[in-house]
Amino acid sequence: MHTTALVLFSGGQDSTTCLAQALSKYQRVETIAFDYRQRHSVELQARVTVLAEIRGLFPQWADRLGEDHLLDLAVLGQVSETSLTRDTAFQMEASGLPNTFVPGRNLLFLTLAAALAYRRDLQVIVTGVCETDFSGYPDCRDDTMKAMQLALSLGMDRRFLIDTPLMWIDKAATWQLAHDLGERAGVMHGGDKLVGLIIEHTHTCYLGDRVHRHAWGWGCGTCPACELRARGHTRWVGSRADPAEMRK
Ligand code: ZN
Repeated sequence: MHTTALVLFSGGQDSTTCLAQALSKYQRVETIAFDYRQRHSVELQARVTVLAEIRGLFPQWADRLGEDHLLDLAVLGQVSETSLTRDTAFQMEASGLPNTFVPGRNLLFLTLAAALAYRRDLQVIVTGVCETDFSGYPDCRDDTMKAMQLALSLGMDRRFLIDTPLMWIDKAATWQLAHDLGERAGVMHGGDKLVGLIIEHTHTCYLGDRVHRHAWGWGCGTCPACELRARGHTRWVGSRADPAEMRK
């Protein structure tokens, strides 16, 4: 039986939903993020706000929410030349991958998370990777996660479980999952409160835009991350009016 978890928590919609899921599932939950000089470093501020809001709005979860860890990973910016770490336009590469792909990023994140989980005696590593409507990042694949789970468990001689609650759901379903988790969190209108918190305080936009406010939250509205978040939200709102929408 797993009772403790470390959540890779960037401060975006996905990782906030993962955090909510972990808080509803595990007794003790800690969070970790990485400063790799990302262009959207505003997410590092967003995550502090999100943690404070969760503590304030959901007392049951606050009791389980433990230490937050921020690791400096500037070295990632030194080895990668991508539109997430450099001031270049978003585009598709000849490889068929978008130039937002930072090679090795998730592999490094998971390795460092496991090292920290080892020291903090946490059993489960939770990450919001998703194979359903992702950008084709190979390090988000279920096979990659399974291989990492095996490599980390063998390499550290500790049985880690990598929990990926969003792997097989799309962005619309991620909004619904957040609503469901909030509803079960033991506070009045918890679903709307959690969705409201995600809209207002999480950060997804690759450009770090906190100037433009949309129905789905803050962002430029045109970068790949904004487009995905906006489309999912529109579909989710539509599905609440007409449940058949979700099945399309
Ligand atoms: Zn954007």
